[in-house]
Amino acid sequence: MVPNFENTAKAFALKSDLELKKAYWLFSLIGQPGLARWGSWLTKIMLEAHLPIEGLIKKTVFHQFCGGISEQDCFPVIENLQSKNVFSVLDYSVEGKADEIAFDHACDRIASVLVSASHHPAIPFGVFKPTGLGPIDLFELKSQGSLLNPVQEQAWQRVVDRFDRLCGLAAENSIPLLIDAEESWMQDSADQLVLEMMRKYNQGTTIVYQTIQAYRWDRKQYAEMLCETGRQEGFKIGVKLVRGAYMEKENQRAAALGIKSPICPTKEATDQNFDEIAQILMSNAEFCAVFLGTHNEESTIKVTQLMEQQGMDKSDSRVWFAQLFGMSDHISFNLSDLGYKVAKYLPFGPVREVMPYLMRRAAENTSVAGQTSRELSLLAAEMRRRKL
Ligand SMILES: Cc1cc2nc3c(=O)[nH]c(=O)nc-3n(C[C@H](O)[C@H](O)[C@H](O)COP(=O)(O)OP(=O)(O)OC[C@H]3O[C@@H](n4cnc5c(N)ncnc54)[C@H](O)[C@@H]3O)c2cc1C
Repeated sequence: MVPNFENTAKAFALKSDLELKKAYWLFSLIGQPGLARWGSWLTKIMLEAHLPIEGLIKKTVFHQFCGGISEQDCFPVIENLQSKNVFSVLDYSVEGKADEIAFDHACDRIASVLVSASHHPAIPFGVFKPTGLGPIDLFELKSQGSLLNPVQEQAWQRVVDRFDRLCGLAAENSIPLLIDAEESWMQDSADQLVLEMMRKYNQGTTIVYQTIQAYRWDRKQYAEMLCETGRQEGFKIGVKLVRGAYMEKENQRAAALGIKSPICPTKEATDQNFDEIAQILMSNAEFCAVFLGTHNEESTIKVTQLMEQQGMDKSDSRVWFAQLFGMSDHISFNLSDLGYKVAKYLPFGPVREVMPYLMRRAAENTSVAGQTSRELSLLAAEMRRRKL
């Protein structure tokens, strides 16, 4: 049976009338490119000038897209989602801090989330971003195969140790751990490190999940290589499959350097790549688990069909569907209602420090054609339905 994403009563069952109206107002605002761009810029300036706007941000974009300031704040949200069979992935979303103290602090925060997740059945995964644990320049140097000087070598060892600490803790507590993917020019060294972690910790069960970005034209071959390695060496492969969030940055850099862009030439090519990679991973389901991070309805439906063709149960935990908190509730709640495994990425952190995350969400909703208008039309349909 094909999931029906038009059921807005199920999609927005957790939202009060007022919350629906607020969400509609917010998406209308961020759907206007000029306003979103200037609003983000102005917010940054006002925060830097320590103007008292945190309260306003907290009640609006923060409330829509984040679970709270602390893990504790997120628990009511987590329980609310759980009441509809939707799980949460607590994402410590403080971005942009890049010194050793910040990396150690982020590592401690993620470790603490992993431990609390192990006591909370509604939190089935941990997550982290590679550049939250080490400098992007170092990942880049390693990716280029450059020889590191002794100071850089020590810094890299600390990155490896932080990865190993978190993956080891995840294994000890039986909490699978998703490792985000970022810019292509730093990704090779992160991929290499994640592969080592999979070799070490994915013996028997899938603990470590690598992220594959389908907007990169070279990733289908990479997915095949990954599956082949897992098959030959006898460890489990975990993959979070996404389209990719850094397209504009990637294309601009490639143009500036006069090199071929790592991004597929068209949206259709990315879509095809995504579906083909999903197919590769699903056809190796005996040792491969997939976590699909997407708001794309067609790709989601295709994977539910693949599951059916392979005789997999809807609740098979080798396939998870995930959306960001505050977005695409029509996919999350309609899938969970049918019994599929569904999770929401639930970001948390101090308002000021999650601003880069929130600005990316605003930019994404402005640049991804159709995303905002889809949200708006579903919210409007639900408001109309409730009036009737
Ligand atoms: C749970 C979750 C986890 C995520 N984790 C990560 C992560 O670790 N790393 C990361 O990079 N992103 C991550 N993302 C973001 C993701 O990569 C996408 O940016 C976002 O989800 C939009 O893609 P989509 O599949 O939802 O939908 P769609 O709206 O169908 O696709 C939009 C995407 O298609 C691609 N695209 C758009 N236009 C073109 C074009 N002209 N040519 C080629 N490609 C094009 C871009 O990737 C764009 O983001 C995550 C998303 C979710 C939901």
